[in-house]
Amino acid sequence: MQARQLPLALRRAAASPFYRRRLGPALPRDRAGLADTPLTTKQDLRDSYPFGMLAVPRNRLATYHESSGTTGVPTASYYTDGDWTDLAQRYARKWTGIGPADTFLVRTPYALMITGHLAHAAARMCGATVVPADNRTTAMPYARVVRALHDLDVTLTWSLPTEPLLWAAAARLAGLRPDRDFPSLRALFVGGEPLSRARRDRIAEIWGVPVVEEYGSTETGSLAGQCPRGRLHLWADRAIFEVYDPGTGRIGPDGCGQLVVTPLYREAMPLLRYNIEDDVEVRYESCGCGWALPTVRVLGRSASGHAVGPATVTQARLEELVFALPVRYEVMFWRASAQPHQLRVEIEVPAGHRDAACAELAAAVRAEYGIEVRVDPVEPGGLVSRDALTATADVVKPRGLFGPDEDWDRALRYY
Ligand SMILES: [Zn+2]
Repeated sequence: MQARQLPLALRRAAASPFYRRRLGPALPRDRAGLADTPLTTKQDLRDSYPFGMLAVPRNRLATYHESSGTTGVPTASYYTDGDWTDLAQRYARKWTGIGPADTFLVRTPYALMITGHLAHAAARMCGATVVPADNRTTAMPYARVVRALHDLDVTLTWSLPTEPLLWAAAARLAGLRPDRDFPSLRALFVGGEPLSRARRDRIAEIWGVPVVEEYGSTETGSLAGQCPRGRLHLWADRAIFEVYDPGTGRIGPDGCGQLVVTPLYREAMPLLRYNIEDDVEVRYESCGCGWALPTVRVLGRSASGHAVGPATVTQARLEELVFALPVRYEVMFWRASAQPHQLRVEIEVPAGHRDAACAELAAAVRAEYGIEVRVDPVEPGGLVSRDALTATADVVKPRGLFGPDEDWDRALRYY
């Protein structure tokens, strides 16, 4: 499939001002040519802002997106209608299925990024009813999400993995039990941040439904999805994947390093060997699910850690230890500070489980790293404020005239 589609993908790339300028007569014509093509970096995309990568006339564009880097210079990406068919199809490859009977709550941002629109388009393509519930808007605080999940019989959701934990806390504050009072819910789709197996299992346990992970970016859309056996598989029928080791410069089809992707179906913004700069491990191995696609473990930035004494503590491993605590301790929120000679951890935990939870987590950290650790309990609400979980929407429209008892400082405010 890759060999069949690659020539067209390369012809499309030849229309991109960026690739014409960079590669000139060396524009690749086949797989061997692609192997000699230098990687496209995030910096290349930033330098091409806004339309330096555009390979079709502007009037063919359907949407424009940006992802915000740490440097503040935006990375632009854009898609045609044809691109959107490919994007929505890839996202819709969920083993749980998405169908007309589903009510699909989209809880990722709609502004500039692709994530909300991607889930929205995929769910619409499958005939589902979409509830747009952007997580960066004041119109949709957590209490309102819980109300929507409950009252609208939501069956599927799309969010960061942290969100269902916040919904669970908000649901409990509203007197609802996540595993009992949302009987229509049948799966939680999550992506956008690294997720350890222990945290994924814990979210599934709390809600009593499968948690289905998704991996992608605003520049590429979905790159991998989770199979029924719990592994992430790369969509190698829609893109060519390679792994780049920045230490040695080696680029190969598998192993550990940074993920490099050449999408095969892009019209508006072709990318050749785009380095996503996420740390991954790619393997070609058989999986019980039967999908003939390589597997990927996404380590992201959570793979790099901080030194504490002789050990290097990583967010990924620490998260495993926190979420390995028994579910009855109700520990969902935590934070840790890596200091030179001690790891300081705080966990939100109800009074009844305070001593056991702290002692068990401290023992687990010592056993894992052999370092000094101090685990302190925090009252529920201490890390994630109850106000944030119980607040209701307070959105005002701009107006000028106020009554005698109204606060006219709210004039022209949109929040
Ligand atoms: Zn599998």
